[in-house]
Formats: sequence, C-alpha cells, structure tokens
Amino acid sequence: MADLQQETTELLQRLIRFDTVNPPGREREAQEYLRGYLEEAGFECELLALDDARPNLLARLSGEQEGPTLGYLSHVDTVLATPEEWSHDPWSGDLDDGFVWGRGALDMKSQTAAEAVAAASLARAGWRPARGELLLMCVADEEAGGTFGAQFLTEQHPDKVRCDYLINEGGGGVFEWDGTRYYGVCCAEKGVFRFSLTTDGVAGHASIPRMGDNALLKMAPLLERLAERQPGLDVGPEPKAMLAALTGDGADDPRAAVERLRERDPFLALLIEPTLGVSVTPTRISASEKINVIPSRAELQVDCRVPPGLGEKEARARIEEVLGPDGYRLEFLERVVGNRSPAESPLVDEIARWIDEQDPGAQLMPTMLPGFTDSRWFRNTFPDCLAYGFFPHRHMTIHEQMPLIHGADERVDVRDLGYAARFFHDLPQRVLA
Ligand SMILES: [Zn+2]
Repeated sequence: MADLQQETTELLQRLIRFDTVNPPGREREAQEYLRGYLEEAGFECELLALDDARPNLLARLSGEQEGPTLGYLSHVDTVLATPEEWSHDPWSGDLDDGFVWGRGALDMKSQTAAEAVAAASLARAGWRPARGELLLMCVADEEAGGTFGAQFLTEQHPDKVRCDYLINEGGGGVFEWDGTRYYGVCCAEKGVFRFSLTTDGVAGHASIPRMGDNALLKMAPLLERLAERQPGLDVGPEPKAMLAALTGDGADDPRAAVERLRERDPFLALLIEPTLGVSVTPTRISASEKINVIPSRAELQVDCRVPPGLGEKEARARIEEVLGPDGYRLEFLERVVGNRSPAESPLVDEIARWIDEQDPGAQLMPTMLPGFTDSRWFRNTFPDCLAYGFFPHRHMTIHEQMPLIHGADERVDVRDLGYAARFFHDLPQRVLA
C-alpha cells in the first residue's frame, strides 16, 4: 500500500508539469500521457474530443457479467496561477516538506492521479470486475464550464459515459467537531441564476449635471440593499442535517445555529452559510463609455446561487425580497437548476464502511457545495446515477485545504495521496463484486 502512495505522488508530479491552465486548456499532452499509463495497465482507452487540442479520456475495465458502471470522474484542466505569489513554481510539481506543490495539487490532478494509480494497480494485479465495469473519465474544460468536457461527453456520447455510480470532486475533506472527525460527502450543488440589473436615464453633457438623468446614480440604492440584506432562507436536507449534527438543532432556527457555530469555528460557519438559501453577490458594473457623458443606462451584474430544486420563479421572488419590485429591469443570464443525489444510498453506505474501517469513530457528513462541478451534467443526463464528491483527506483538514484551492501555494500532503488511492483501490472491489 506504501507503493500506491509513492506511485500517486510521482504521477501527480508528472501531471502538474503539464500546463493545462484553462483557458486555453490544451489538455492533449496530459491526456495522452494518462492514456499510455492506463493502457499499459490493461485498460481499454479512447480519446473523444470536440476540439482536437482538448480531448477527454475514457478508460474502461470491463467484467465478465453485466452489472453496474462505477465511474471515476476528474478534470485535468486547472485555473491559472500567478508565480510571483507562490513559494514554489506552480508547474514544478516539487516534492518538499511532505507535500506535492503546484496548480492542480488539490483541484484536482491529485484525484486524477490517485484514481489512475489505484485503477492501474488493480488491473496490473489481474483484477477484473465480477460484474459491471470500472470507467475512468478524465475530462477537459471543467474550470470554464465543461463545453469541451463533461457537457460534450454527456450530450454527444451518453452511451459511452453512462454510469450507475459516480465519484467526483467536491467532498472528502475532514474536520473535527466535539472530538468527532467528520468527512464531507458532497451530495448536492447549488444552481446558477446569474442576472443583470439595468437602470435607465437620459444622456447629457456631464458638465451640466442636471441636464440628463443619471442612470448610474440609480444603482446606488440597489447596491445599498445588496450590501445590507440577504434573501430569506431555503434550507435543504443537507445543511439541515449538518446543523443538526453539529449544533443539536438547526431545523428551527438555522440562522441562530450558524451564529453558534461561528462562535466556535468561523471558517465552518463561512462554508455552511451560503448553502442555507439563495445568495446574491454583485460583481460587475458598467455605465457610460465616456467620462463626460451622463449615462442613459447602467448595468450591474450579480452572481446568484440557488439551492437545488428551486427554479427561476423562486429565485426571482428571493431577489425581489432584497431589491424591492421596481426601479430596475432584471434579466437572467443563466438558468441552471441545482442538483443532488440522495444522502442515503448503497454507494454512500460503501463509503461510510470504508471510512469506518480506516478511521474508526469518524462519521460521514452530507454536504452541499455552494458552487458546482461536472456532477451536474451526469445527474441531468442520467437521472438514476448516484453521484458524490469524495476524495478522502485525513491529514490536511478542510481549514488548511480550502483556502489553497484556486489560491497560491496549492499543495497536497503525500500521506493523503496514499489514503485516497487506497479508497479508490478498495471501492471497485466492493461495488463491482
Ligand atoms: Zn475542480
């Protein structure tokens, strides 16, 4: 098992050295490397691409009998990195102080590496599923929305990526509370209903302030409301269960429960708070193109995330609670409903069993991601697919890990690489038995 850790460390270092910053992505070299690695171990591989420079890798190990497909989904692209802010070159894959350093060390070349090494080690040892198949999907373009990656695969090649069970990113981090260690298993993701607000006025020469009717000034009260208020709550089952486990209640007064949590663990409160309801975050504003022209129109863009199950009507009602009904025009720029898989299922049971064996007394905690991952494409295309974010970390807590994701000095503890690889090694032997 020490070999799994060593081999995962080496593969991760290699993957980090492929610059797959998206845009532009350019994932081909990394994908061909992975294909070679998995083919040699006995996997049947193919690359499928919408853009030739950005293929997706499917690697399959089939059993003799029909059965479920267990999918391991990961993306090989990364966000950018600013080397001056780092203490190690972001594309060095340096091994230092017990960590592998570099962009993608957490999000998520580490998981790609752990899954590939675990799967290759099974295949090399002659293991084949008793029934069903193990399907590794290493995709492109997650960080820019999945057009060339998971969206392309699920829409254009659904028969090749159909899964009954799916393990993806977004969970597996550990935290301690009242002496109990909890591992998050990501069951749900919020939807995206970004919108623009437009105010109207009359253009005029800026040297005579009252000549026109300044549309930009009409944004002031809207921005103030956005700064002062948040919409009412829509608490789903995952945050409800989490607050109940950590604070003893939470169902009756989630806000009070979060405040109690904040007193003891502000970071945990920070993570849970946005999962309790619709969030509205203004991020961009524009008005006049010229400094000497009073704008006849101003536009504010707002990032809005909505709990799973709620649609445009509910989102709009929550937004109007904050902004009031008039003084602006609202237009939705995106309408993606959030998604979830049940917090209780055979796959969650297997994950819980594994954690119980490895870390006795530790508990699984269903979580909701305020953002989203490629799981949404799979849950939408295959409504029966049970999809969870789970990459178990034991040594680095979520408090240490989360600030590094998309940040400077992203790194992963090599012991966690071994830990995760063991999970990816054990799971197929149970699910595909
Ligand atoms: Zn990611």
